[in-house]
Amino acid sequence: MRYISTRGDASAPKRFCEILLEGLAPDGGLYLPERYPQVDAATLARWRGLPYADLAFEILSLYIDDIPADDLRALVRRTYTAEVFGSEAIVPVRRLGDSGLHIEALSNGPTLAFKDMAMQLLGQLFEYELGRRGEQLNILGATSGDTGSAAEYAMRGKRGVRVFMLSPHGRMSPFQQAQMYSLPDANIHNIAIEGVFDDAQDIVKAVSNDLAFKRAHRIGTVNSINWARLLAQVVYYFAGYFQVTRANDEPVSFTVPSGNFGNVCAGHVARMMGLPIRHLVVATNENDVLDEFFRTGTYRVRQGAETHETSSPSMDISKASNFERFVFDLLGRDGARTRELFATQVEREGRFSLRPDEFARIASFGFQSGRSTHADRLATIRGTWARHGTMIDTHTADGVKVAAERVEPGVPMVVLETALPVKFAETIREALGREPERPAALQGIESLPRRVVVMKPEVQAIKDYITRHIDG
Ligand SMILES: *Cc1c(COP(=O)(O)O)cnc(C)c1O
Repeated sequence: MRYISTRGDASAPKRFCEILLEGLAPDGGLYLPERYPQVDAATLARWRGLPYADLAFEILSLYIDDIPADDLRALVRRTYTAEVFGSEAIVPVRRLGDSGLHIEALSNGPTLAFKDMAMQLLGQLFEYELGRRGEQLNILGATSGDTGSAAEYAMRGKRGVRVFMLSPHGRMSPFQQAQMYSLPDANIHNIAIEGVFDDAQDIVKAVSNDLAFKRAHRIGTVNSINWARLLAQVVYYFAGYFQVTRANDEPVSFTVPSGNFGNVCAGHVARMMGLPIRHLVVATNENDVLDEFFRTGTYRVRQGAETHETSSPSMDISKASNFERFVFDLLGRDGARTRELFATQVEREGRFSLRPDEFARIASFGFQSGRSTHADRLATIRGTWARHGTMIDTHTADGVKVAAERVEPGVPMVVLETALPVKFAETIREALGREPERPAALQGIESLPRRVVVMKPEVQAIKDYITRHIDG
């Protein structure tokens, strides 16, 4: 399998391990496989009933041909264990009464959000590939919560990898701070910046734009456009499908709480492979860039001031960084047209509108959308608790609200649970007047010793810190 760019530079298709440690393609596009491997009913029949790790191996090996099969199998078996993800099923599905809705739990990993599903595998893949090359990588990132902690828990103790994670000092929830800052591993560096998330983000950009520093200090990232992360997420669409069907041609719909379009893009890939997905429903919060696109065919990047701070903060985006992948497929993989829309029109005007004939194709890709507000989240958290005795977090609530509007008789509707309620305790208290449930392993983490340095938002100081903490 070779990987190509969404912007049409076909000069040198690459193999999986070549793009594993990279971000954007050289022409500014995103990597996608040159084709989607097809699975038929016989393949689905063979995969049904496989343990999660073995299912992951089957799917990944269709896309990865530069890691020996035995090694790849060992990597996924080490990643997806009941010990790390809390159950043999890894992503257990439960039904919400007779509503037709089901919830697929993707948030029982170490940081209680779905990003662990991909990041845990990335940690194994990075350690493996760096070891094979005899190289080191220093991951630099900025986080306001979920991504940074998922990256740290995936990379802790991994050989060849260090993490320097910038976070806004005192601005994450006490639980999120405790989760990150209590890690004892020597290769994890927490840097709390005196400022807001954007200050931390600006420093990461400034350091990454210093190409000489970046190369000399082997700086890399683990952002959401990484193809390996997306590929890891394809697996749980299959795993969810098998749990709510008996036969291998029954249609199932999925609703996905969405921000950067990474999670639902994996659903798109699963559908392109032939998994019988009827609808992929994109659920947004007040930051409705994607809902607007699927309703109107216009994609409009929001200004900073137009980007709302909501009670489902991991979906607070001004643009959707993985979205170009879907548009490339929608446009019949026309790289020149994708480049015109994203490189020219979005860069210049902050928006583009599809032609009517292009917009008309969306239906055949199964996409639908909807949006939700803070009041909707409160009502949905209350209703789900009262009717089904199930406590859901704010992001999952955005999904359940939109899913209830889109569910069809006879078609199971699976909502992806993207985080556990304990991560967003304030809104749970507001909705239910009680504390969220907390997994036993995380009792009392707020009182563990912390490893974090507080620094001013100065690029040079951060560079010096990184240099001092890299040996050799
Ligand atoms: C990251 C995240 C999302 C959004 O996922 P995308 O892949 O960016 O669309 C939704 N919910 C939670 C809890 C998240 O951490």
